[in-house]
Amino acid sequence: MIYICSDKNCYYIAESEIPLLKCPDCGKELKKVREEVLDPARLNSLGVWRMQHLTEEHLEEDLKRAASCFERAYLLGNPIAAENLGLCYERGDGMEKSIDRAVQMYRYAAEHGNISACYRFGNCCYEGVGREKSYENAFTWYQNAAEKKHASATNMVGYMYEYGQGTAAAVSRTAILKKPCTGMSRR
Ligand SMILES: [Zn+2]
Repeated sequence: MIYICSDKNCYYIAESEIPLLKCPDCGKELKKVREEVLDPARLNSLGVWRMQHLTEEHLEEDLKRAASCFERAYLLGNPIAAENLGLCYERGDGMEKSIDRAVQMYRYAAEHGNISACYRFGNCCYEGVGREKSYENAFTWYQNAAEKKHASATNMVGYMYEYGQGTAAAVSRTAILKKPCTGMSRR
């Protein structure tokens, strides 16, 4: 059975044969639900839960059940699930391995506001994985993620400025990015 938290703002979800009563995250009551009624965000959470509870004896089946949650949530437009599905394609976890499909998923997720996918898709553009290599595109996606404070993307933006990759404006911005902030008051 699948259990979700009765608090609609809490995304705790678990699958269990034995009854579960209280949410370990917020302490509210858990309720039993059918998988078919889960909204895309909870479907994605269920996929993550299943990925975290793989069993050795049913590994392939478990991977498929997890990947299927991501796939259904992606088809319902969930950008977090799209990135997770991309990872499944990239690794061949519960899906037939396909770098092209993985990159498509990262792109979809990035275009729909998933910050970590912006960075991931930026990497694909930078390395030329599943698509043509393009520093310009990589720079744009890294910058999108960096604006939302993604640490690795911020580093890549700094690096690309420094080496003039994908951007004409070299060096000077690096100094700005890497200079520690001073004079900020806490109150
Ligand atoms: Zn809860």
